[in-house]
Amino acid sequence: MDRGGEVTVGSWQPHAVQVVSSTWARDSHDLFDFEAHHLHTKTFSVLSSMVCVRNGTDVQMMREHTSMPVGSEPLLRLVQKDGYFWVDKVSPSSSSKKLWLVVRDSPPGGHNLAEGDVMKLGRFKFKVRQFGVHPGSQPELRLDDSGAVCCPEGKGHDDLSQTLCRICLLEGSTEEDPLITPCQCKGSIEFVHLGCLRHWIRGRLNLAENAGGGGPGIGSYFYRPLACELCKAFYPTYVSSSTSRSPLVEVPQTTPPFIVLENLVRDSQQHATRGLHVISLGEKVLKLGRGHESDVRIADVSISRCHAMIRFQRGHFVLEDNDSKFGTLVAMKKPRLLEPGKTVSIQMGRTVICLQVQPDHGFVGSPPLLSLPSSSHNERALRLALLTRGSTQRADVDPHNASTPPTPVGPAQTWAEGAVHQQTEAVSGENVEQPDPLD
Ligand SMILES: [Zn+2]
Ligand SMILES: [Zn+2]
Repeated sequence: MDRGGEVTVGSWQPHAVQVVSSTWARDSHDLFDFEAHHLHTKTFSVLSSMVCVRNGTDVQMMREHTSMPVGSEPLLRLVQKDGYFWVDKVSPSSSSKKLWLVVRDSPPGGHNLAEGDVMKLGRFKFKVRQFGVHPGSQPELRLDDSGAVCCPEGKGHDDLSQTLCRICLLEGSTEEDPLITPCQCKGSIEFVHLGCLRHWIRGRLNLAENAGGGGPGIGSYFYRPLACELCKAFYPTYVSSSTSRSPLVEVPQTTPPFIVLENLVRDSQQHATRGLHVISLGEKVLKLGRGHESDVRIADVSISRCHAMIRFQRGHFVLEDNDSKFGTLVAMKKPRLLEPGKTVSIQMGRTVICLQVQPDHGFVGSPPLLSLPSSSHNERALRLALLTRGSTQRADVDPHNASTPPTPVGPAQTWAEGAVHQQTEAVSGENVEQPDPLD
């Protein structure tokens, strides 16, 4: 581990992190109202590893490994390691609160999406399934990663010469129009012609009409899996023949660049359908929102008329929030390094926390070289490196105050109503509580 040789740890003073928490007074579907006038806002200046907790609408910074007040909920960890600050969820377990990056506060120009990202608009989630950039690439229409393939029966076409298709009631199977068994039905309704099934699906999905108009580019459509009306089994995504594999549903050719977004639908959301939005972008912009002009339209009160946009720019798919009421978020997948001068905003339920490393005030030295794995492939190693085992190994808050007892640290100044953020001092161990003006 290279710790930057000539820099002695004693001369290096870590920067402080300014933490501004804003909590919406209402507790509704884990939403935060970015247009709300009454927010509970607090500003902290943090010099060492801390855990941020919320109790009702009150947010506090606590030292790690101290017991939390009853009824409080941990939100995030701020980890100071070798002079750098990282932000992460409180524990690696899935029960730990999810951290969501607030896109409207990301650097100008928007947030560069990656395949596998989960975005959240209002209370709706989408998974970025696929980017299509290169000529000739086509969407993978798999859901739940099954990508089931239906193969024509092992029997030859001759063996099926007396077998009836359940749709057209005609017998016979050919290479061009084989009899297949696409679902769990058995007996006299087991077999169906591929052509007959496709004809039935065409009538159900109206893909050709969707692809013609409305979409921003050529070959945009919404794909949803269909189930057999009798046995309720989902039809396979693909059908294979002796020579090739093709989608069971006859989808239009999509012109790259395109993006595939999956609706992540919970069973309780009846007004949304599980499926894939395939959208060709080209020079155009993909609009997500409640309005009729949207390419991905979501009819829900938590969605603004024009909520967010995705554009293809210099090889990237860029997500931008359009000042939406309930925000556009991207799930944070791994610990994030706080870079000096750059603000990171993170939402956890009804609280948004803005983090910014403060420029050092007359401190000497520069940070030791970063010795932590920053590769995106090494999330586990990164988490392990950031784990602390008790309070002993930490270089503490302020060397002149080394005797400060390891008690929970209150904010230097607790709250400021609305958008007014009070300037705070770098301080620890003091707790300047003020009464809640809403009481
Ligand atoms: Zn048939
Ligand atoms: Zn069936």
